[in-house]
Amino acid sequence: MNQKVAILGAGMVGVSCALELQRRGFDVTLFDRRAPGCETSYGNAGVIARSSLMPFNHPGLWGALPKLLKNQSASFRYDPAFMAKNLPWALSFLSKARRGAFEATATALDALIRLSAGEHRRLLAEAGATHRLRDNGWIFLYRSEAAYAGSRLSRDTFHRFGVAHQVLDAGELAVLEPGLKPIFPRALWIQDASSVDSPGQVVQAYAALFASRGGTIRQAEIAGLARSGAPDRWCVTEASGAAHQASHVVLALGPWSREFASKALGLSVPMAFERGYHMHYGARDGAALTRPVYDTGGGYVLSPMAQGLRLSTGVQLTARDAPRNLAQLDLAEQAARQAFPLDLRLETEAWLGSRPTLPDSRPIIDECPGRPGLWLAFGHQHIGFSTGPGTASLLGSLMAGDPCAVDPAPFRAGRFL
Ligand SMILES: Cc1cc2nc3c(=O)[nH]c(=O)nc-3n(C[C@H](O)[C@H](O)[C@H](O)COP(=O)(O)OP(=O)(O)OC[C@H]3O[C@@H](n4cnc5c(N)ncnc54)[C@H](O)[C@@H]3O)c2cc1C
Repeated sequence: MNQKVAILGAGMVGVSCALELQRRGFDVTLFDRRAPGCETSYGNAGVIARSSLMPFNHPGLWGALPKLLKNQSASFRYDPAFMAKNLPWALSFLSKARRGAFEATATALDALIRLSAGEHRRLLAEAGATHRLRDNGWIFLYRSEAAYAGSRLSRDTFHRFGVAHQVLDAGELAVLEPGLKPIFPRALWIQDASSVDSPGQVVQAYAALFASRGGTIRQAEIAGLARSGAPDRWCVTEASGAAHQASHVVLALGPWSREFASKALGLSVPMAFERGYHMHYGARDGAALTRPVYDTGGGYVLSPMAQGLRLSTGVQLTARDAPRNLAQLDLAEQAARQAFPLDLRLETEAWLGSRPTLPDSRPIIDECPGRPGLWLAFGHQHIGFSTGPGTASLLGSLMAGDPCAVDPAPFRAGRFL
């Protein structure tokens, strides 16, 4: 094929696209102002799970809304000023919590997640990083029988979609994760799930594979993107002024996609930012976890990572670059100390990052309407680490005009652009 492709953004999505398009014979250059996998794709919880087909805006959201709007829970906070400014996004997001929209999204995400799981396995093997993968699922923890009963919609959905899971009582949970304190009468072990012990290192291993196969990685701030003189060419401009011509451009800037699309292209992307924080901890008394756990009452995920136990927080809806607010992390830490013998914090400053979310909780994976050669791959909300490789597979098929492994319709740009 030998056509030049410029990929903007070297998170999990951009790096996966780089590998896929290289495999298909394109001449690929990957741009990022940082080294690959240093932003959102670094700081996540490392979970790759079929249970993630449940978007945050599912029909159960309506019942939880009065409590969430009080803005005091560990799992969800919002900045009222940001919400007021992004009211159309919020209303659209809520409108998708209806049964029909939820079914469409769950079906689409399920297909993308399943495609991605296989692609991850292939890439991990090719990149020599299979040792980072754990195949023992993840566990939802419930602090009361009532909380467990409240998870009915999720369990029914997992059942309908054939997501392997097992309900555990306190004794069964203690056998699987003896490090947890006995405060959870019920748990749900999602068996159709895996996790990695260093998401950033996985992206870096994929990027190294791309480079070893002759791909070019440029560490540079991208300042502009415009059609160049020839009708089928694009010009990517670095902040230094260096310019690069390409027949195709893939915009995979994660939470920076909205601002870049607006400034460089005049596109209005309805994206909001679900911020999360993380902190690493040691463990006391030789306690350990063998897989990530999600404390549904505490509003955090605790994942065993190469760096220590990573506590990651729920959602703070706020501007991407708003000042940090550690209230949720502090609450999550208190709750996690009730559940597990955490030792000291291992860093002085918490990490933060933004989940980039479109109103229907599905990414855009498509050519930009009216702009041939400009491809969009962003909006992966809570599951971009998992679904980067499936995104790449779908994008590669669309670019090459091949049959797609999943239905592309739910991911079309025309939903919003
Ligand atoms: C707390 C938390 C927990 C999460 N847990 C999970 C999980 O367990 N499983 C899961 O699947 N997902 C999880 N996610 C979501 C996942 O991390 C994201 O969906 C995913 O990382 C998005 O990947 P991306 O490649 O689109 O964006 P990013 O990884 O953010 O990559 C975008 C890249 O663009 C670059 N960039 C931006 N602007 C410019 C510019 N002008 N010039 C050059 N480069 C630029 C950035 O440097 C960055 O490297 C979590 C997210 C958070 C915040």
